[in-house]
Amino acid sequence: MPCIKKVWIEEGCISCSLCQDICSDVFKVDPGMDCVVKEDAPRHFSSKGEEIREAAQDCPVEVIKYAEDGADG
Ligand code: SF4
Repeated sequence: MPCIKKVWIEEGCISCSLCQDICSDVFKVDPGMDCVVKEDAPRHFSSKGEEIREAAQDCPVEVIKYAEDGADG
């Protein structure tokens, strides 16, 4: 499976915290705030690829996006 090289959040997060529950090394959701990708998240991209994909898939409003090695972006 290709390695994740970039993760970002598009507009529309509803601050449900699901992504943080799945992968707190990468996603941070402060109460009432939009989700952010943590500053030091990139060092976890290779080890937490599965969790990142799961969070992107399970986000109720599908605003978690990621780019993989070999893909454009
Ligand atoms: S799972 Fe989606 S909606 Fe929920 S906090 Fe994360 S980015 Fe926001």
